[in-house]
Amino acid sequence: MFVRWNRRRLPDWTCSASRCPHQGDRDRLTPVVMLSYKAEAGVSKHYVVWRPGVSINACCLADVTARVQFWRGLEKQIAALGEPPADKSAGAVLLDRLDWLRAEIGKRVPYPTDDELVEMVAEQMRSQTAQ
Ligand SMILES: [Zn+2]
Repeated sequence: MFVRWNRRRLPDWTCSASRCPHQGDRDRLTPVVMLSYKAEAGVSKHYVVWRPGVSINACCLADVTARVQFWRGLEKQIAALGEPPADKSAGAVLLDRLDWLRAEIGKRVPYPTDDELVEMVAEQMRSQTAQ
């Protein structure tokens, strides 16, 4: 199994991340879990195991809030995998490999660190006091 990242070019800087620098690639990244198998000798094919339906803008990867939202969405979808009427085959394959899945996705979208979360909350409190 592997994670493929679909890229879709954004027409504009439409990201809503509060501290997005609006730099780098203006692409929306969407993870898709794929499985490859040998179709015949020397030929391997891939098929989609799972589309979690979450995405993040490449330009927002440095923004903790954007990553928190991404991971919240992903964890919600992961939780739904174990419940009917989720796709049973995808659920069965993935439920045993959730640590692997989180690690693979985390290579591209790092899970927010404790320090980053503390800084994010502090930032929110500062902006609330300022209003
Ligand atoms: Zn952005």
